[in-house]
Amino acid sequence: MLMRSFFLYLARSRTARKVLMGLPGAQRMARRFVAGETLAQGIEAVRALNAKGLLATLDHLGENVVTETDAARAMQDYLDLLDAIAQAGVNTNVSLKLTQLGLDIGFEVCLNNLRCILERAASHGNFVRIDMEGSAYTEPTLRLYRTLRDQHGFRNVGVVIQAYLHRSLEDVRALAEEGANIRLCKGAYKEPPHIAFADKRDVDANFVKLAEHFLSPQARERGAYLAVATHDDKMIDAVKRYAAQQGIPKDRYEFQMLYGVRSAAQQALVAEGYKTRVYVPYGTEWYPYFMRRLAERPANVWFIARNFFRN
Ligand SMILES: Cc1cc2nc3c(=O)[nH]c(=O)nc-3n(C[C@H](O)[C@H](O)[C@H](O)COP(=O)(O)OP(=O)(O)OC[C@H]3O[C@@H](n4cnc5c(N)ncnc54)[C@H](O)[C@@H]3O)c2cc1C
Repeated sequence: MLMRSFFLYLARSRTARKVLMGLPGAQRMARRFVAGETLAQGIEAVRALNAKGLLATLDHLGENVVTETDAARAMQDYLDLLDAIAQAGVNTNVSLKLTQLGLDIGFEVCLNNLRCILERAASHGNFVRIDMEGSAYTEPTLRLYRTLRDQHGFRNVGVVIQAYLHRSLEDVRALAEEGANIRLCKGAYKEPPHIAFADKRDVDANFVKLAEHFLSPQARERGAYLAVATHDDKMIDAVKRYAAQQGIPKDRYEFQMLYGVRSAAQQALVAEGYKTRVYVPYGTEWYPYFMRRLAERPANVWFIARNFFRN
Protein backbone atom coordinates (compact mmCIF):
# COMPACT_ATOMS: atom_id res chain seq x y z
CA MET A 1 0.00 0.00 0.00
CA LEU A 2 2.85 2.34 0.94
CA MET A 3 4.69 1.50 -2.28
CA ARG A 4 1.52 2.11 -4.30
CA SER A 5 1.05 5.55 -2.72
CA PHE A 6 4.73 6.37 -3.24
CA PHE A 7 4.73 5.54 -6.96
CA LEU A 8 1.38 7.28 -7.52
CA TYR A 9 2.91 10.35 -5.85
CA LEU A 10 5.93 10.08 -8.18
CA ALA A 11 3.56 9.79 -11.16
CA ARG A 12 2.14 13.23 -10.36
CA SER A 13 5.33 15.01 -9.24
CA ARG A 14 6.91 17.28 -11.84
CA THR A 15 10.21 17.36 -9.96
CA ALA A 16 10.41 13.57 -9.74
CA ARG A 17 9.54 13.40 -13.42
CA LYS A 18 12.47 15.66 -14.32
CA VAL A 19 14.92 13.73 -12.17
CA LEU A 20 13.79 10.21 -13.05
CA MET A 21 13.38 10.78 -16.80
CA GLY A 22 16.91 12.17 -16.86
CA LEU A 23 18.43 9.05 -15.31
CA PRO A 24 20.53 7.04 -17.74
CA GLY A 25 18.65 3.87 -18.63
CA ALA A 26 15.24 5.14 -17.45
CA GLN A 27 13.80 4.91 -20.94
CA ARG A 28 15.16 1.39 -21.32
CA MET A 29 13.39 0.38 -18.11
CA ALA A 30 10.09 1.86 -19.30
CA ARG A 31 10.38 -0.21 -22.48
CA ARG A 32 9.09 -3.21 -20.52
CA PHE A 33 5.65 -1.52 -20.66
CA VAL A 34 5.94 0.83 -23.63
CA ALA A 35 6.27 -0.27 -27.27
CA GLY A 36 8.65 2.56 -28.18
CA GLU A 37 8.74 6.30 -28.70
CA THR A 38 7.54 6.40 -32.34
CA LEU A 39 4.31 5.63 -34.17
CA ALA A 40 6.18 3.14 -36.35
CA GLN A 41 7.26 1.21 -33.24
CA GLY A 42 3.65 1.20 -31.98
CA ILE A 43 2.43 -0.22 -35.30
CA GLU A 44 5.18 -2.85 -35.35
CA ALA A 45 4.25 -3.98 -31.83
CA VAL A 46 0.63 -4.36 -32.95
CA ARG A 47 1.69 -6.31 -36.04
CA ALA A 48 3.59 -8.76 -33.82
CA LEU A 49 0.58 -9.14 -31.48
CA ASN A 50 -1.82 -9.64 -34.41
CA ALA A 51 0.44 -12.42 -35.70
CA LYS A 52 -0.22 -14.23 -32.41
CA GLY A 53 -3.99 -13.83 -32.69
CA LEU A 54 -4.17 -10.84 -30.32
CA LEU A 55 -6.10 -7.64 -31.01
CA ALA A 56 -4.73 -4.30 -29.81
CA THR A 57 -5.57 -0.77 -28.77
CA LEU A 58 -2.88 1.85 -29.40
CA ASP A 59 -2.37 4.67 -26.92
CA HIS A 60 -0.26 7.66 -27.95
CA LEU A 61 0.97 8.54 -24.47
CA GLY A 62 0.16 11.96 -23.05
CA GLU A 63 -2.03 13.57 -20.38
CA ASN A 64 -2.81 16.83 -18.62
CA VAL A 65 -1.81 19.23 -21.40
CA VAL A 66 -2.16 22.89 -20.44
CA THR A 67 -2.23 24.75 -23.77
CA GLU A 68 -4.65 24.58 -26.70
CA THR A 69 -1.67 24.19 -29.01
CA ASP A 70 -0.57 21.02 -27.23
CA ALA A 71 -4.13 19.68 -27.21
CA ALA A 72 -4.42 20.35 -30.96
CA ARG A 73 -1.08 18.61 -31.51
CA ALA A 74 -2.30 15.57 -29.58
CA MET A 75 -5.45 15.57 -31.71
CA GLN A 76 -3.35 15.68 -34.91
CA ASP A 77 -1.18 12.83 -33.60
CA TYR A 78 -4.32 10.71 -33.24
CA LEU A 79 -5.48 11.58 -36.76
CA ASP A 80 -2.07 10.49 -38.06
CA LEU A 81 -2.27 7.35 -35.96
CA LEU A 82 -5.69 6.40 -37.34
CA ASP A 83 -4.44 6.95 -40.92
CA ALA A 84 -1.33 4.89 -40.21
CA ILE A 85 -3.39 2.02 -38.78
CA ALA A 86 -5.58 1.96 -41.90
CA GLN A 87 -2.55 2.11 -44.16
CA ALA A 88 -0.68 -0.64 -42.31
CA GLY A 89 -3.78 -2.86 -42.25
CA VAL A 90 -3.21 -3.89 -38.63
CA ASN A 91 -6.06 -4.90 -36.32
CA THR A 92 -6.17 -2.28 -33.60
CA ASN A 93 -8.38 0.49 -32.30
CA VAL A 94 -7.12 3.46 -30.25
CA SER A 95 -7.31 4.58 -26.63
CA LEU A 96 -6.84 8.16 -25.45
CA LYS A 97 -7.08 10.39 -22.42
CA LEU A 98 -9.30 13.47 -22.37
CA THR A 99 -6.75 15.55 -20.45
CA GLN A 100 -4.45 14.94 -23.41
CA LEU A 101 -7.04 16.62 -25.64
CA GLY A 102 -7.50 19.66 -23.40
CA LEU A 103 -10.07 18.70 -20.72
CA ASP A 104 -8.15 20.80 -18.17
CA ILE A 105 -8.41 23.80 -20.51
CA GLY A 106 -12.12 23.48 -21.26
CA PHE A 107 -14.92 21.02 -22.01
CA GLU A 108 -15.58 22.47 -25.48
CA VAL A 109 -11.91 22.45 -26.50
CA CYS A 110 -11.72 18.79 -25.61
CA LEU A 111 -15.07 17.95 -27.20
CA ASN A 112 -14.04 19.52 -30.52
CA ASN A 113 -10.72 17.70 -30.56
CA LEU A 114 -12.34 14.36 -29.84
CA ARG A 115 -15.07 14.99 -32.40
CA CYS A 116 -12.41 15.36 -35.13
CA ILE A 117 -10.76 12.11 -33.99
CA LEU A 118 -14.08 10.23 -33.97
CA GLU A 119 -14.89 11.47 -37.47
CA ARG A 120 -11.53 10.25 -38.76
CA ALA A 121 -11.92 6.93 -36.92
CA ALA A 122 -15.41 6.49 -38.40
CA SER A 123 -14.08 7.19 -41.90
CA HIS A 124 -11.71 4.22 -41.38
CA GLY A 125 -14.36 2.07 -39.65
CA ASN A 126 -12.36 2.27 -36.43
CA PHE A 127 -13.21 2.68 -32.74
CA VAL A 128 -11.99 5.02 -29.98
CA ARG A 129 -11.85 4.17 -26.28
CA ILE A 130 -11.78 7.06 -23.81
CA ASP A 131 -9.55 6.00 -20.90
CA MET A 132 -10.72 6.99 -17.42
CA GLU A 133 -8.41 9.19 -15.33
CA GLY A 134 -8.58 10.37 -11.69
CA SER A 135 -12.00 10.84 -10.04
CA ALA A 136 -12.03 14.60 -10.70
CA TYR A 137 -12.57 13.68 -14.35
CA THR A 138 -15.20 10.93 -14.02
CA GLU A 139 -18.22 13.22 -14.37
CA PRO A 140 -16.94 15.36 -17.29
CA THR A 141 -15.61 12.25 -19.06
CA LEU A 142 -18.99 10.51 -18.97
CA ARG A 143 -20.76 13.73 -19.94
CA LEU A 144 -18.45 14.27 -22.92
CA TYR A 145 -18.86 10.64 -24.00
CA ARG A 146 -22.66 10.91 -23.87
CA THR A 147 -22.64 14.25 -25.72
CA LEU A 148 -20.65 12.77 -28.58
CA ARG A 149 -22.74 9.61 -28.66
CA ASP A 150 -26.22 11.09 -28.27
CA GLN A 151 -25.97 14.60 -29.69
CA HIS A 152 -23.34 14.04 -32.38
CA GLY A 153 -24.45 10.48 -33.16
CA PHE A 154 -21.09 8.71 -32.85
CA ARG A 155 -21.36 4.95 -32.39
CA ASN A 156 -17.62 4.22 -32.52
CA VAL A 157 -16.78 5.39 -29.02
CA GLY A 158 -16.60 3.76 -25.60
CA VAL A 159 -15.63 4.65 -22.04
CA VAL A 160 -13.99 3.05 -19.01
CA ILE A 161 -15.46 2.24 -15.61
CA GLN A 162 -13.23 1.78 -12.55
CA ALA A 163 -14.41 -0.88 -10.08
CA TYR A 164 -12.74 0.89 -7.12
CA LEU A 165 -15.14 3.87 -7.28
CA HIS A 166 -18.24 3.75 -5.05
CA ARG A 167 -20.24 5.45 -7.80
CA SER A 168 -19.49 2.82 -10.44
CA LEU A 169 -22.49 0.58 -9.75
CA GLU A 170 -24.82 3.48 -10.55
CA ASP A 171 -22.78 4.35 -13.64
CA VAL A 172 -22.79 0.75 -14.84
CA ARG A 173 -26.56 0.47 -14.35
CA ALA A 174 -27.12 3.57 -16.49
CA LEU A 175 -24.55 2.62 -19.15
CA ALA A 176 -25.97 -0.90 -19.44
CA GLU A 177 -29.43 0.59 -19.96
CA GLU A 178 -27.95 2.84 -22.68
CA GLY A 179 -26.33 -0.16 -24.43
CA ALA A 180 -22.88 1.36 -24.04
CA ASN A 181 -19.49 -0.13 -24.84
CA ILE A 182 -17.37 -0.09 -21.69
CA ARG A 183 -13.99 -1.28 -20.52
CA LEU A 184 -14.09 -2.39 -16.90
CA CYS A 185 -10.85 -2.09 -14.89
CA LYS A 186 -10.01 -1.87 -11.19
CA GLY A 187 -8.67 1.72 -11.31
CA ALA A 188 -5.11 3.03 -11.29
CA TYR A 189 -5.20 6.39 -9.45
CA LYS A 190 -4.86 7.48 -5.85
CA GLU A 191 -8.36 8.11 -4.45
CA PRO A 192 -9.58 8.90 -0.92
CA PRO A 193 -11.74 6.30 0.90
CA HIS A 194 -14.96 8.32 0.60
CA ILE A 195 -14.63 8.04 -3.18
CA ALA A 196 -13.05 4.62 -3.67
CA PHE A 197 -12.92 1.26 -1.87
CA ALA A 198 -9.68 1.08 0.09
CA ASP A 199 -9.69 -2.68 0.57
CA LYS A 200 -8.62 -4.78 -2.44
CA ARG A 201 -11.23 -7.45 -1.57
CA ASP A 202 -14.01 -4.87 -1.92
CA VAL A 203 -12.62 -3.69 -5.26
CA ASP A 204 -12.45 -7.29 -6.51
CA ALA A 205 -16.01 -8.09 -5.35
CA ASN A 206 -17.29 -4.94 -7.02
CA PHE A 207 -15.43 -5.79 -10.23
CA VAL A 208 -17.24 -9.14 -10.52
CA LYS A 209 -20.59 -7.57 -9.62
CA LEU A 210 -20.21 -4.84 -12.27
CA ALA A 211 -19.07 -7.32 -14.92
CA GLU A 212 -22.05 -9.59 -14.26
CA HIS A 213 -24.45 -6.66 -14.34
CA PHE A 214 -23.06 -5.50 -17.66
CA LEU A 215 -23.26 -9.00 -19.14
CA SER A 216 -26.83 -9.55 -17.95
CA PRO A 217 -29.46 -10.50 -20.56
CA GLN A 218 -31.13 -7.07 -20.17
CA ALA A 219 -27.87 -5.24 -20.87
CA ARG A 220 -27.05 -7.46 -23.85
CA GLU A 221 -30.52 -6.90 -25.28
CA ARG A 222 -29.69 -3.19 -25.25
CA GLY A 223 -26.48 -3.88 -27.21
CA ALA A 224 -24.10 -3.38 -24.26
CA TYR A 225 -20.55 -4.62 -24.87
CA LEU A 226 -17.98 -5.35 -22.16
CA ALA A 227 -14.19 -5.33 -22.25
CA VAL A 228 -12.80 -6.99 -19.12
CA ALA A 229 -9.44 -5.30 -18.44
CA THR A 230 -7.46 -7.13 -15.78
CA HIS A 231 -4.46 -9.41 -15.23
CA ASP A 232 -6.16 -11.04 -12.28
CA ASP A 233 -7.01 -14.72 -12.83
CA LYS A 234 -9.73 -14.51 -10.16
CA MET A 235 -11.56 -11.80 -12.12
CA ILE A 236 -10.99 -13.54 -15.46
CA ASP A 237 -12.24 -16.90 -14.15
CA ALA A 238 -15.33 -15.29 -12.59
CA VAL A 239 -16.24 -13.69 -15.92
CA LYS A 240 -15.58 -16.89 -17.88
CA ARG A 241 -17.77 -18.85 -15.44
CA TYR A 242 -20.64 -16.36 -15.55
CA ALA A 243 -20.51 -16.11 -19.35
CA ALA A 244 -20.55 -19.90 -19.70
CA GLN A 245 -23.48 -20.26 -17.26
CA GLN A 246 -25.44 -17.63 -19.17
CA GLY A 247 -24.50 -19.04 -22.58
CA ILE A 248 -23.03 -15.69 -23.67
CA PRO A 249 -21.29 -15.95 -27.04
CA LYS A 250 -17.58 -15.16 -26.91
CA ASP A 251 -17.96 -12.28 -29.37
CA ARG A 252 -20.16 -10.35 -26.94
CA TYR A 253 -17.27 -9.45 -24.64
CA GLU A 254 -13.48 -9.41 -24.64
CA PHE A 255 -10.51 -9.58 -22.29
CA GLN A 256 -7.87 -6.87 -22.24
CA MET A 257 -4.39 -6.73 -20.73
CA LEU A 258 -1.49 -4.30 -20.85
CA TYR A 259 1.52 -4.56 -23.14
CA GLY A 260 4.36 -6.33 -21.35
CA VAL A 261 2.16 -7.77 -18.60
CA ARG A 262 1.36 -11.52 -18.47
CA SER A 263 2.05 -12.21 -22.15
CA ALA A 264 1.68 -15.96 -21.60
CA ALA A 265 -1.77 -15.46 -20.06
CA GLN A 266 -2.75 -13.32 -23.07
CA GLN A 267 -1.77 -16.17 -25.38
CA ALA A 268 -3.60 -18.72 -23.25
CA LEU A 269 -6.84 -16.73 -23.60
CA VAL A 270 -6.42 -16.66 -27.38
CA ALA A 271 -5.80 -20.41 -27.42
CA GLU A 272 -9.08 -20.90 -25.51
CA GLY A 273 -10.91 -18.91 -28.17
CA TYR A 274 -11.45 -15.67 -26.20
CA LYS A 275 -11.24 -12.32 -27.92
CA THR A 276 -8.18 -10.73 -26.29
CA ARG A 277 -6.89 -7.20 -26.77
CA VAL A 278 -3.56 -5.75 -25.67
CA TYR A 279 -3.25 -2.08 -24.68
CA VAL A 280 -0.12 -0.83 -26.47
CA PRO A 281 1.23 2.56 -25.36
CA TYR A 282 3.91 4.39 -27.32
CA GLY A 283 5.41 7.89 -27.36
CA THR A 284 7.78 10.10 -25.43
CA GLU A 285 5.36 10.89 -22.57
CA TRP A 286 5.85 7.52 -20.89
CA TYR A 287 6.72 8.75 -17.39
CA PRO A 288 3.32 8.83 -15.55
CA TYR A 289 2.14 5.66 -17.30
CA PHE A 290 5.33 3.86 -16.24
CA MET A 291 5.00 5.04 -12.61
CA ARG A 292 1.39 3.79 -12.43
CA ARG A 293 2.55 0.35 -13.62
CA LEU A 294 5.20 0.27 -10.90
CA ALA A 295 2.56 1.32 -8.34
CA GLU A 296 0.36 -1.63 -9.30
CA ARG A 297 2.94 -4.25 -8.66
CA PRO A 298 6.01 -3.62 -6.52
CA ALA A 299 7.44 -6.91 -7.90
CA ASN A 300 7.86 -5.02 -11.19
CA VAL A 301 10.27 -2.64 -9.48
CA TRP A 302 12.58 -5.49 -8.47
CA PHE A 303 12.19 -7.21 -11.83
CA ILE A 304 13.23 -4.06 -13.67
CA ALA A 305 16.00 -3.15 -11.24
CA ARG A 306 17.48 -6.68 -11.51
CA ASN A 307 17.49 -6.59 -15.31
CA PHE A 308 18.91 -3.08 -15.29
CA PHE A 309 21.92 -4.05 -13.18
CA ARG A 310 22.37 -7.35 -15.01
CA ASN A 311 22.65 -5.43 -18.31
C1 LIG B 1 -6.28 -2.91 -20.95
C2 LIG B 1 -6.26 -2.09 -19.70
C3 LIG B 1 -6.70 -0.79 -19.74
C4 LIG B 1 -6.72 -0.02 -18.57
N1 LIG B 1 -7.26 1.23 -18.60
C5 LIG B 1 -7.38 1.93 -17.45
C6 LIG B 1 -8.06 3.19 -17.40
O1 LIG B 1 -8.57 3.69 -18.41
N2 LIG B 1 -8.14 3.83 -16.22
C7 LIG B 1 -7.61 3.29 -15.07
O2 LIG B 1 -7.74 3.89 -14.00
N3 LIG B 1 -6.94 2.12 -15.09
C8 LIG B 1 -6.82 1.43 -16.25
N4 LIG B 1 -6.17 0.22 -16.23
C9 LIG B 1 -5.37 -0.20 -15.06
C10 LIG B 1 -6.22 -0.93 -14.05
O3 LIG B 1 -7.13 -0.03 -13.44
C11 LIG B 1 -5.34 -1.56 -12.96
O4 LIG B 1 -4.62 -0.57 -12.30
C12 LIG B 1 -4.38 -2.59 -13.47
O5 LIG B 1 -4.89 -3.36 -14.51
C13 LIG B 1 -3.98 -3.56 -12.34
O6 LIG B 1 -5.09 -4.24 -11.87
P1 LIG B 1 -5.39 -5.79 -12.21
O7 LIG B 1 -6.83 -5.89 -12.53
O8 LIG B 1 -4.49 -6.26 -13.26
O9 LIG B 1 -5.20 -6.55 -10.86
P2 LIG B 1 -4.25 -6.38 -9.58
O10 LIG B 1 -5.16 -6.38 -8.40
O11 LIG B 1 -3.23 -5.30 -9.74
O12 LIG B 1 -3.47 -7.74 -9.62
C14 LIG B 1 -4.15 -8.96 -9.38
C15 LIG B 1 -3.32 -10.12 -9.80
O13 LIG B 1 -3.05 -10.07 -11.20
C16 LIG B 1 -1.77 -10.62 -11.45
N5 LIG B 1 -0.89 -9.57 -12.00
C17 LIG B 1 -1.09 -8.25 -12.00
N6 LIG B 1 -0.06 -7.62 -12.59
C18 LIG B 1 0.81 -8.55 -12.93
C19 LIG B 1 2.09 -8.55 -13.56
N7 LIG B 1 2.67 -7.41 -13.92
N8 LIG B 1 2.71 -9.72 -13.77
C20 LIG B 1 2.15 -10.87 -13.39
N9 LIG B 1 0.94 -10.95 -12.78
C21 LIG B 1 0.30 -9.82 -12.56
C22 LIG B 1 -1.26 -11.10 -10.14
O14 LIG B 1 -1.64 -12.42 -9.96
C23 LIG B 1 -1.96 -10.19 -9.17
O15 LIG B 1 -2.04 -10.71 -7.88
C24 LIG B 1 -6.20 -0.57 -17.38
C25 LIG B 1 -5.77 -1.89 -17.34
C26 LIG B 1 -5.81 -2.67 -18.46
C27 LIG B 1 -5.37 -4.10 -18.38
